Amino acid sequence: MALLLPQEFQSYMQGNLGTAFQDFLEALEKTPPVSIRYNLKKNAHPAGEPIPWCTSGRYLKERPAFTLDPLLHGGAYYVQEASSMFLEQALQQTADLTQPLNVLDLCAAPGGKSTHLLSLLSTNSLLVSNEVIRSRAAVLSENIQKWGHSNVVVTNNDPVDFQRLPGFFDIILVDAPCSGEGLFRKEPEATSQWSEKNVELCSLRQQRILTDVWPALKPGGILIYSTCTYNEHENMENIERLHAQASMVSKELILPDSWGIETLRRGNCTGYQLYPHLLKGEGFFMSVMQKADGPTRILKSKDFLHYPSRSQSKEISNWIKEPEEQCLFQHFETVRMLPLDKKDELSLLLQNLHVVIAGTAVLEITRNKLIPDHALALSININKMNFPVLPLNPEQALTYLRKDTLNVSAADVGFALIEYEGIGLGWVNVLPNRLNNLYPAAWRIRMGSALQ
Ligand code: SAM
Repeated sequence: MALLLPQEFQSYMQGNLGTAFQDFLEALEKTPPVSIRYNLKKNAHPAGEPIPWCTSGRYLKERPAFTLDPLLHGGAYYVQEASSMFLEQALQQTADLTQPLNVLDLCAAPGGKSTHLLSLLSTNSLLVSNEVIRSRAAVLSENIQKWGHSNVVVTNNDPVDFQRLPGFFDIILVDAPCSGEGLFRKEPEATSQWSEKNVELCSLRQQRILTDVWPALKPGGILIYSTCTYNEHENMENIERLHAQASMVSKELILPDSWGIETLRRGNCTGYQLYPHLLKGEGFFMSVMQKADGPTRILKSKDFLHYPSRSQSKEISNWIKEPEEQCLFQHFETVRMLPLDKKDELSLLLQNLHVVIAGTAVLEITRNKLIPDHALALSININKMNFPVLPLNPEQALTYLRKDTLNVSAADVGFALIEYEGIGLGWVNVLPNRLNNLYPAAWRIRMGSALQ
């Protein structure tokens, strides 16, 4: 069925694209490409046509029933639209990713760009993945846990709250809420919500978000601004406005012509626009700015953390890989881990923000018993040598993910790690005559049909 594009939108795009407008319209009638980004830290082996601007991104020939693929639930890959993966170029071309960086993803749910950032950053960097809407922060937390990195803190704050952390972040990503013009092909219902008035409201909200978060960027730090829309009010105009208000330079990226990405220039500002008629992906805009150099402030905080006892720590360190690089800390009964190098930053975040999850939950201490947490099963830092492992076939894995009764035999009683194709999915408690399925009830899959 043909897309019903609002008339004002069509006029705007026609003025913008000129003779290419017809190609744009034709592209919108085509089936959107399907793409995924692999989690290389989970030994995933990328297959499919490479996405030119993202090392771990691949196009798939068709859309599988993703929900019925246990590897998705184990965080082996993330289903993400190809143009969004262009973020990788901003990071690689403007930042030294070997350094221990503090990075903020301000508008992070459901977690596409946060999981990508985690794959790009060094393990001694810290990502603060923030989402202002509480229900969306829960989905974000789930996707972050599946990705399995421990150098991340999920927060649920308004952008203005980050002013409590002046100059704290080396990199800030603002993947702003927008009018979504670039997603019309994938989400046709979005066309009915489009209006010039809504574009204006989005633009004002984006300006407010940028102004609110700017003080949290370190002098010399990088701000990446992106939207999935085409119009200049939400894109280049916002960059120009920020440029006029704040001391910064707009950064240029080096992009091969063959990628089909358009470079936009206005005054001293540069932006990049991805169009569906010029490449295999949806509409996306990105611009990269560097804050002017200046004096840096060192923020300090008291050590807010509680720690497990020495003997507990010794035992727990067998559960994780390279325990000497992790800080184990306790939040009520749960023991969590986060890179030791980022311990001070964690205290600062706990003091100033509404933290939803910090690092990876390793286990719970209940009446002196150590009970492995679900997040540990998904973690890239789990020491699998320490646990009995139950490998499942596709049907069994789906039974497990539905939280149904699992009929597989296990040698020893106690907790066992459930695996599918070498990827951890969760835990079972092996009892003498049955298995207790410990998959989190809130995450269980509800789709019924057999694996396709
Ligand atoms: N970065 C995400 C990803 O790659 O999966 C997509 C982010 S989406 C484009 C924009 C996000 O901004 C939404 O999750 C939305 O809830 C959030 N948001 C909405 N209003 C906001 C506001 N006033 N300030 C900050 N974030 C907001």
